[in-house]
Parts: sequence; C-alpha cells; structure tokens
Amino acid sequence: MEEYREIVSDVLTTAGGAQAWIEMNLSGYLTKRCSGCGADEDAEALPSAMQWLSEHAPACAERQ
Ligand SMILES: [Zn+2]
Repeated sequence: MEEYREIVSDVLTTAGGAQAWIEMNLSGYLTKRCSGCGADEDAEALPSAMQWLSEHAPACAERQ
C-alpha cells in the first residue's frame, strides 16, 4: 500500500504542461514532485521546497 501523502503547495503547471507540487507525509517529511520529469525528491524544509517549486515549474519542459 502506498504511503499517504498530502499536497501542501499549489499544484503548478510546468513549462512542458505537466504538474509540479510539494507533498508531506504523516511524519512531516516533505517531497518535491513533478509529473513531467518524474521528480520525487526529499525536501528539507518548506521554504526551500517552495523555492524549488517556483523555480522548477517554469524551467521543466519535460512531459511524460
Ligand atoms: Zn520537472
């Protein structure tokens, strides 16, 4: 069974037309996600995760 995660950011549309967002699991761990390039990376803190999101969405041209 997949771990429960909650989306804690806006879901942004990327340059490639995919979607990027930040998730948090029940333990409070943050994950940076992008459906375009397949990003699924741990994030240390919300401010840096939000910065990644705002920079990644306009820069990611991949679409799966
Ligand atoms: Zn991406």
